[in-house]
Amino acid sequence: MRSKVNPGVEPKAHSPRNHRTVHSESSRNVGLSPPLVSNGAGNYEGIQKSPNRPLRIMKFGGTSVADAACIQRVVEIIRAAARESDIVVVVSAMSGVTNKLIEAAVQSERGNRDAVARIFTELRKQHRAAVTALIESDTQRNSIGQQMEELFREGERFCEGTMLLHELTPRVRDAVSSLGERLSAPLLAAVLYESELPSQCVEATELVVTDSYHGGAEPWMDLTRERSIARLEPLIQQGVVPVVTGFIGATEDGVLTTLGRGGSDYSATVLGTALDADEVIIWTDVDGLLTADPRLVPDARLVSEISYREAAELAYFGAKVLHPKTLHPVMQQGIPLSIRNTFAPEKLGTKISAVGCANGGGVTALAAVTEAALITIGGPGLRGVQDVLGRTFATTTAVRADVLLISQSSSQNDICLVVSSLHAKRTLEALRHEFSHDLAHEKVEHMTLDATVAIVTVVGQQVRAMSRTSRIFGALGQENVDVIAIAHGASACNLSLVVARKDVKAALIAAHREFQLSELASAMFSVSDSGKPVSWAYESERTGSDAD
Ligand code: ADP
Ligand code: ASP
Ligand code: MG
Repeated sequence: MRSKVNPGVEPKAHSPRNHRTVHSESSRNVGLSPPLVSNGAGNYEGIQKSPNRPLRIMKFGGTSVADAACIQRVVEIIRAAARESDIVVVVSAMSGVTNKLIEAAVQSERGNRDAVARIFTELRKQHRAAVTALIESDTQRNSIGQQMEELFREGERFCEGTMLLHELTPRVRDAVSSLGERLSAPLLAAVLYESELPSQCVEATELVVTDSYHGGAEPWMDLTRERSIARLEPLIQQGVVPVVTGFIGATEDGVLTTLGRGGSDYSATVLGTALDADEVIIWTDVDGLLTADPRLVPDARLVSEISYREAAELAYFGAKVLHPKTLHPVMQQGIPLSIRNTFAPEKLGTKISAVGCANGGGVTALAAVTEAALITIGGPGLRGVQDVLGRTFATTTAVRADVLLISQSSSQNDICLVVSSLHAKRTLEALRHEFSHDLAHEKVEHMTLDATVAIVTVVGQQVRAMSRTSRIFGALGQENVDVIAIAHGASACNLSLVVARKDVKAALIAAHREFQLSELASAMFSVSDSGKPVSWAYESERTGSDAD
């Protein structure tokens, strides 16, 4: 069993990385594709390796690699961490790139050749500017430039095909939208190389094996574990930092898939679990998990510690800082997850673990799904329809629409369910198909969609037990916010309310004030004596001090 060198990392319930045996032959023979790794001339500082080094997965989001200056910061963070840990980096596309790629794919389907060309011109400009600013060596610059150009051409070919067919298939949509990560990962690996940190870009298609559900594929952990260990372990043993494309996976046959928007967080925890890492760190553009979305609640404060359960509820109910499935893999294995700020790396951020932080049964944070849709199935004949709930759930599962909330009237005349707006149309179509016979025979009288709602969720370790319902009703009432539906009880730690979308901000602000989250969050804040991050210290750009 490896001893921990990092006091900031909680011991896990299982034995850490006992499968990470040293494969001396394969380590020596590992193929390092030039020019992104050490040239063997020994001119690297190298990563100090010891048998006791913890393994950290560090994921950098789009804003963290938005431009050359941001990428330079990321390199410094990786360099500092690599002094004491083995590191696997997971990287998102540069900020805005995935949106642009999806737009290009959509415009291709519509036959808008000029719009597609414009988008690719912008993308080339954005990436070339970063290469020019960050890579000094001509050879390296040409090599990475060529690699990127091949990817742009690949994307353009996919768009050409889409234009010819007038059809954007889910598979092609994934192929195009994944290009952002396939561009940013080699770029970051090349910059690390320039900074004398041996590194190699690894495409997640080699590691993350998924089912074939394009646009929201689910990883298969056993195969993913096998492939990740086989591919990454030798690199780590050699002191090479793998830079893995987030967001992406592939079916067993090698067809590229994506894990859903914002999926790089999930990539990081999937890989962390596959490699039995000691910690996963999500590096982003805010100080950590906050008591509410700071764009909607300006008073939002940092939550310094939180339990997996609470964080999972917040992610599921719209806290964009974490992809909804991020917590699933790590909570099963007890791997700690941190959220930290790339632009203030000296701060501790949020630590997510099994225990979290007791706050006397109070509310920890709020989340909101601002784009939700309420589907109502109803009519007096509904009582006579066989297995309505079972069929409803089977239908939503088939179209992979998470039901955020469901309620059935006691007379069984109506069922209403709330799904994300993203899934609303296809859920309604699928339900209409499933109940078509009952609709035709007027057993189901109506099936309607209200696309103007939002869900506000209150999360705390014992929200249910402490019955926060009356307080939140009171607070929203004062702001004239009507509650359309409420779900209370499915989970001990959440309470969800459906409100009109126009009211979501007012509802969040009122609830934040009612539960005094600005004050409570700062009371929970626990910093080490020195005030420095407990896991390791960074050379803060702000103070210029070497805090190591
Ligand atoms: P990244 O590009 O690093 O993946 P995201 O934009 O996906 O970053 O997520 C970070 C953003 O999530 C923050 O800038 C913030 O606006 C938003 N956000 C929403 N809810 C929360 C919350 N509870 N805590 C922190 N950030 C939140
Ligand atoms: N680039 C992808 C997206 O924008 C994945 C991610 O950023 O996590 O959805
Ligand atoms: Mg994100």
